[in-house]
Amino acid sequence: MDMHLSQWRARDPVFADLMDLRETFWANPGLRPAGEALSSAPVTAEEVADAAARLDRFAPYIARVFPETAPDGGRIESPLVPIPAMGRALGDRPGRLLLKQDSHLPISGSIKARGGIYEVLWLAETIALREGWLSEGESYARLADADLRGRFSDYAVAVGSTGNLGLSIGMMSAALGFRVTVHMSADARQWKKDLLRSRGVNVVEYAGDYSLAVARGRRQAEADPACHFVDDENSRTLFLGYAVAAGRLAEQLAAMEIPVDGAHPLYVYLPCGVGGGPGGVAFGLKLLYGGAVRCYFAEPTHAPCMLLGLATGLHDGVSVEDFGIDGKTAADGLAVGRPSRFVGRVMEGLLDGCYTVDDRRLYQLLRLLADTEGIRLEPSALAGLPGRDLVCGRTPVPEGATHIAWATGGGMVPEDVWREYYRLGG
Ligand SMILES: *Cc1c(COP(=O)(O)O)cnc(C)c1O
Repeated sequence: MDMHLSQWRARDPVFADLMDLRETFWANPGLRPAGEALSSAPVTAEEVADAAARLDRFAPYIARVFPETAPDGGRIESPLVPIPAMGRALGDRPGRLLLKQDSHLPISGSIKARGGIYEVLWLAETIALREGWLSEGESYARLADADLRGRFSDYAVAVGSTGNLGLSIGMMSAALGFRVTVHMSADARQWKKDLLRSRGVNVVEYAGDYSLAVARGRRQAEADPACHFVDDENSRTLFLGYAVAAGRLAEQLAAMEIPVDGAHPLYVYLPCGVGGGPGGVAFGLKLLYGGAVRCYFAEPTHAPCMLLGLATGLHDGVSVEDFGIDGKTAADGLAVGRPSRFVGRVMEGLLDGCYTVDDRRLYQLLRLLADTEGIRLEPSALAGLPGRDLVCGRTPVPEGATHIAWATGGGMVPEDVWREYYRLGG
């Protein structure tokens, strides 16, 4: 960084808020008309459609290996539900409030079941077609047969993670029969490590943060030519898997007869770590709805890496540590010190804004949501909920608007861990 911290402070009050760990809201001054920003984006609508089609090809396999997905035909999707009691508890605001429950996605109980599982399936398809194990037109359910399952053991998958990505990559890779190693940062919860080990996943633990786990994982994977490293900081494949969510959401909104257009804008609040999950979803939504959808990323006050990357324009050239911020947060899914370079550049002209949330508020919201709606989330997943109030307090929002808080994880949290989260919200 060429500028001193005092110069950043003088440049924009948002930097003082961030460095002093105050909750803050940042409207993106770089926002461009959606059509214009999308036409120069390095990702296309065709690529997102191709990812959706790939997931459809795998649906018969998923239905067979993860029977909980069978009622949905092997589609890994989550409910979109109104949360009126929570909305009232937070205060009267224009528009309806919905919760997108990626917390309850099958297989791994977080938004990572979109991107993470998609990248493993993409890899499996690439290998299976190249090796002639699958032929075009054949049902992918065939991959669950014993003879094919064994063959993926010649190949390896590795990933660095704060927990949930490791859970998704680990569960899917192990089901296919890949050798899989998950490099876990210090933030990762014990139960996630235990669950993975019970599936035969090799879990390597680090005392350091997410960046260290990723760096070590990348280095080890590079030494093995048969190993595919899932690069959470830069992967287009992960991003495409997340982007498929948009078309699925549009189907759900249509089924609920909820319009999205100029008079009925859609506001979406997405918890953000390295940026791939929220970035992919927001990108897909902008492709579908253009300027009628407004997307905001939510980060912990102790790990606002994407906000810093965007507001400085330096993307992965800055880390929260450079600004004297410690990166320590109860929102383990968001405990990331440096944003994805790829996502920052794709979103700089498309994202409407970012805001930060204090850990204390995450726990209070966790408890309030459980009390009002009976829905259990993990702390990270609550970061989307303050978005509605922040946006309504700053800009005129029409009554016809819809707000969606994206609940990114928590469906698999063990009872005793969840009790402790609830207690901390009191
Ligand atoms: C990973 C994660 C996010 C954010 O996704 P990124 O791709 O890291 O930005 C949000 N919430 C939860 C629970 C997560 O696990």
